[in-house]
Amino acid sequence: MKIFNTLNNRKEDFIPIEEGKVRMYVCGPTVYNYIHIGNARPMIVFDTVRRYLEYKGYDVNYVSNFTDVDDKIIAKANEEGVSAAEIAERYTKAAIADMNALNVMPATIHPKATEEIDGMIDMIQTLIDKGYAYEKNGTVFYRTRKFAGYGKLSGKNLDDLEAGARIAVDDDKEDAMDFVLWKPKKEGEPYWESPWGDGRPGWHIECSVMSNKYLGKQIDIHAGGEDLIFPHHENEIAQSEAANGTTFSNYWMHNAFLNINNHKMSKSAGNFFTVKDIAEKYPLQVLRFFMLSAHYRSPLNFSDDLMMSAKSSLERIRTAVFNLSYLENSAEETGYSAADEDFRAQLVSFKNSFEAAMEDDFNTADAISVIFEIVRLSNSYLSAQKPLSLISEAKDMIVSLCDILGIICEQDDKHDDSLPDEDIEKLINERNEARKSRDFARADSIRDELAKMGIQLEDTREGVRWKRI
Ligand code: AMP
Ligand code: ZN
Repeated sequence: MKIFNTLNNRKEDFIPIEEGKVRMYVCGPTVYNYIHIGNARPMIVFDTVRRYLEYKGYDVNYVSNFTDVDDKIIAKANEEGVSAAEIAERYTKAAIADMNALNVMPATIHPKATEEIDGMIDMIQTLIDKGYAYEKNGTVFYRTRKFAGYGKLSGKNLDDLEAGARIAVDDDKEDAMDFVLWKPKKEGEPYWESPWGDGRPGWHIECSVMSNKYLGKQIDIHAGGEDLIFPHHENEIAQSEAANGTTFSNYWMHNAFLNINNHKMSKSAGNFFTVKDIAEKYPLQVLRFFMLSAHYRSPLNFSDDLMMSAKSSLERIRTAVFNLSYLENSAEETGYSAADEDFRAQLVSFKNSFEAAMEDDFNTADAISVIFEIVRLSNSYLSAQKPLSLISEAKDMIVSLCDILGIICEQDDKHDDSLPDEDIEKLINERNEARKSRDFARADSIRDELAKMGIQLEDTREGVRWKRI
């Protein structure tokens, strides 16, 4: 399996530290508002990476944090006249609900910054003791120039950075590139006690500490959006490697941006849609499908046209699965003809192609194309006259490959809060009765009623079929 490693700027074979296990950390959202669909991109992408690793048999320990103390959370709290903790709790809950709706699996653990302050104080103290940090007037700074590897992830060089930077002069800093590990409390802000006075941590330290605590000093994969490469991940490396004296993460993965009109979607620019906004227009499965229809390292432009086309593509897969389930009810097990054997061999080769796409740095775009190949072939080859086990094999393959991508393509009551099956069957029977007694007005009104609830009827020679659309 090959992973593009930002650290070395190339695809590399994936070799985990411990055989059969993967330690993975993904930087999570700052919870000061509802998450937007740009934030959802890393969630969906790295959930898919995790699902594929699990499918390959790895035991994945997946940690993703919530940043629940930060300037933006405090500003929002002041705006609403409530505590920062209340804002953080509200939007953490909302983010979890959005992740569930996007079929993003819960992390093995979701640590919160405010619950890990002791660990942060310990690591900051270690950095001071080792000469990598210093305190001045209640602020603790990281001594960036002391860490020889600074810049190795982003490819930036401290002298160039310093020359190009318009950094506000801070008299307390020894060097303009030093960054904050701990800052003193300000009026009206949450704070914790520390050896350097009351205050709160800088942003970067939390991920170093949580990763260390839940995954160990050295991990396999660290991931996030590409805007985190510098300075966040660069600073995490400086902190963790200086404190622990060993390599922090072997592979660094970064997703490209979700854009609108070729500009990064972001809260500060105001050009964003929340996951909630999108859920009002499209099933969130469509959003997940849309996100995975591009490779994670390619920028992806959001538009209604592309969402509509994602919707119809997903519908095409679902319809194929639905039709195959229907065929399963009417087909019988028979011997395999040479053509059937051929079809089977093609199915197996498609599965191999799917895996090859995923093993090439998680190329979900190509993996989805392979699923379409299976759909196309199944639609044209399979019928009720073909062996039952062949029909089932094709259906199960489509369903299980979609499942690796976290895409649900079977009719599934668990993910559908509309009318339960029994009620639908009852209405269909009622419509049949109405038609028998030639009450077509009643029959049509039942059909319309069902259509409004997203249930589509199809009259066939074998009777009425229905599906959720
Ligand atoms: P934040 O809450 O801004 O710290 O972002 C949480 C995660 O979302 C980080 O991994 C960011 O890199 C990522 N992210 C934010 N905006 C976008 C975007 N427009 N496209 C892709 N990823 C993004
Ligand atoms: Zn982080």
